[in-house]
Amino acid sequence: MPAEKTTGVVLKVVEFSETSCVVTFYTRDFGKITAMAKGARRLRSPFEGAIDLLTTCRIVFLRKSLDKLDLLTEAKLLRRFRSSSSDLSRFYAGLYVIELVSALTDPADPQPELYDLVERTIDEIDSSANPHVALQLLQFQLGLLTALGHQPSLDDCVGCGNPVVDSSSAVRVAFGMLAGGVYCPRCRSGKRNVVGLNKETLLLMRKLSEPTISLDNVEATKSSCGELGGLLEQYVADLIGYRPKMQAWLKQAFRE
Ligand SMILES: [Zn+2]
Repeated sequence: MPAEKTTGVVLKVVEFSETSCVVTFYTRDFGKITAMAKGARRLRSPFEGAIDLLTTCRIVFLRKSLDKLDLLTEAKLLRRFRSSSSDLSRFYAGLYVIELVSALTDPADPQPELYDLVERTIDEIDSSANPHVALQLLQFQLGLLTALGHQPSLDDCVGCGNPVVDSSSAVRVAFGMLAGGVYCPRCRSGKRNVVGLNKETLLLMRKLSEPTISLDNVEATKSSCGELGGLLEQYVADLIGYRPKMQAWLKQAFRE
């Protein structure tokens, strides 16, 4: 049994026995892993508070054969999610991030760039100096879709491939939820699951899709944030096959 070392974010903790639990991490080098943490529920746990939702840890684990759980042997806390006890909307935002990562990634499928995005997003959501939590979530969802190969087409028509917005003076642009992107006026007719998206919202989506954009430089109205939030939540729900449970809480925290 080789011992593996990596960095990971805690996605899920399930009690297993009086003293042990089963922990799912999203790790930088191994993707999603699930490991038994023996003694984690003891008062003097060998993992010293590292095993909690949204914490980032340095871990060592033993890989078991395919049908058995890996065994966690060390977990050293690198960063705790402090807003858990002080700021509910930040906590909900963090939980939404890990819910999406849990639902949309496969075990043992490492994607270091996606890992870095997840860790950075959680870090920024937890920073009380960051005023852009709602925008951060929109940017994260777009980054996640891109990392998974599901990024919506925002410039060219998903029907014919011609550029859409810049040539049109319309206020609203057709967006195909199933087709995964914008339609030109000619291609949209007869298509199902098409929503009329405000052009301002589409421009916001393009801006947030730029890999190096700083949120300090993104101007967004409440209405386009709300419209984009609703669109992305539906988009990821379609992808997962059900509506993530944190979406209802987010709506309460950010849009009402
Ligand atoms: Zn077209």
